[in-house]
Amino acid sequence: MSEHKDFLRTIVEKDLKSGKYKEIVTRFPPEPNGFPHIGHAKSIAINFGIASDYNGHCNLRMDDTNPTTEDTKYVEALKGAVEWLGFEWNGNVRFTSDYFHKIYDYAIQLIKMDKAYIDSINEEEMREFRGTVTQAGKRSKYAQRSIEENLDLFKRMKNGEFKDGEHVLRAKIDMSAANMKMRDPLLYRIRHSHHFRAGNEWSIYPMYDFAHCLSDYIEGVSHSICTLEFENNRDVYNWVLDTLGLKVNRPYQHEFARLGINYTVMSKRKLLELVEGGLVSGWDDPRLPTIAGYKRRGYTPESILNFCDSVGIAKANSMVDVAQLEFCIRDDLNTKVPRVLSVLNPLKVTIENYDGSEEIDAPYYPHDVPKDGMRKLPFSKEIYIERDDFMETPLKGYFRLTPDQGVRLRHAYIITCKEVVKDSNGEIIEIKAEYYPESKSGAEDTSGIKVKSAIQWVSAAEAKKVEVRVYDRLFKDEAPEGLEDVNPDSLRIIKNALIEPAVITNRPDERFQFERQGYFYADPIDYTDELPVFNKIVGLKDSWGK
Ligand code: ATP
Ligand code: MG
Ligand code: MG
Repeated sequence: MSEHKDFLRTIVEKDLKSGKYKEIVTRFPPEPNGFPHIGHAKSIAINFGIASDYNGHCNLRMDDTNPTTEDTKYVEALKGAVEWLGFEWNGNVRFTSDYFHKIYDYAIQLIKMDKAYIDSINEEEMREFRGTVTQAGKRSKYAQRSIEENLDLFKRMKNGEFKDGEHVLRAKIDMSAANMKMRDPLLYRIRHSHHFRAGNEWSIYPMYDFAHCLSDYIEGVSHSICTLEFENNRDVYNWVLDTLGLKVNRPYQHEFARLGINYTVMSKRKLLELVEGGLVSGWDDPRLPTIAGYKRRGYTPESILNFCDSVGIAKANSMVDVAQLEFCIRDDLNTKVPRVLSVLNPLKVTIENYDGSEEIDAPYYPHDVPKDGMRKLPFSKEIYIERDDFMETPLKGYFRLTPDQGVRLRHAYIITCKEVVKDSNGEIIEIKAEYYPESKSGAEDTSGIKVKSAIQWVSAAEAKKVEVRVYDRLFKDEAPEGLEDVNPDSLRIIKNALIEPAVITNRPDERFQFERQGYFYADPIDYTDELPVFNKIVGLKDSWGK
């Protein structure tokens, strides 16, 4: 459990202590109309986290009351996200649609109590009659219908006798309530559409305000935790349960601040636009803030949960810097993954005074990572280094290879530049170099030569060719509005990168630190033996804006 108790846990503890509940039951109630994003991870972490901290249960409930946008593939994605984050839901996955009959019966009960009526005004009148914050609304004339007429119409709505929009069922509360949500909220609407689970059984579907509180009650939820935008719905939540007399072990709603991260959008609707508009490769595109995207990119569940924890649970909305998430994944991988050598933009180096070949024993992990593991690094006369690691006319403060400055090849020898070979366009195509035999890395270095920097390299004959995908932020705007703010350069594909052979043949891990380049993940879909593909998870340090 987090060291500092958040306000939700404070409430839970108080409710346990007072005996209000014997057991804590929470739920994560997504609508299956898109893939879950990191905002959902936050809600998952809170709901499952609280249940587990207090030996309770957390249900996974698909809030499937809107047949036109929902689908089984989203149910699967939501289940997958909860599992990947390491949580187990209580019993079977639940569906609001499983409760449609019960919810319908509660509606009948409200009508019989004269607490709900069939309204038949059009949408425009509905809006007009609702009034404004400063002006009371007024009730439609249909509110005077008799209980018998309401019952009859409601049953006929259910039987599919009316068209979409012809009638609605509304709660009879107060058209002049200060809380606009209490102005006779809609409980049911007509929708002639196929439901992915209920099929064509229903022509009417309950609204969120009616279905949610009742589903919570039916499941024995104690704490119904939702985001702040539902604050005003809380009165309706309580009204429904109180009016129906559902007192015993009834749930209460508590709101927390929605997670927002800069440089991204976090709504399933907007994410769907990106996916359907072909701006990304799918719901699992590594640039998306979806759980599937983070997973494919190489984020670990731990890093996502640590991030959610570091953000805390607030009562006011705020924007979190994406750098905080990047810190969490870097921090997690730092203590876990092997360090290997790769060259993304190769420049050939021929070491003229080296003959033959050798294998250098090199540890996968630095001293401060308590893990063991070695691999053999083949070394030979022909190697590749990173093009950026040589400068013919160095800038001030450049510590890598230049015509006058030697450099250490990581785990291997110090080399110096003897000749720069160029093609007819003046582009550098090769460096002819020499090495110091006594300069081999570690205890064997008796050369006494000092250089200011070590660079990565691979042996030409043994290096493996790989594809590397480097991602930048999907949006160029800190607070993107939509598709028009998409960063056109958010994906760079490097086709001819080279990597030391152990990464491919020994596969010591799926995630690596490519030394000096960043953290990378073997793409779980596109990686093949013929063409290994690696996704850049995150850079080694926050280089944004520099
Ligand atoms: P979206 O607009 O992305 O569809 P939503 O709130 O409609 O989000 P639901 O599927 O209804 O998504 O949400 C399931 C649960 O996840 C809800 O309890 C909701 O409050 C929570 N949730 C969704 N987005 C966030 C977020 N950004 N931060 C915290 N919790 C969130
Ligand atoms: Mg929702
Ligand atoms: Mg939504």
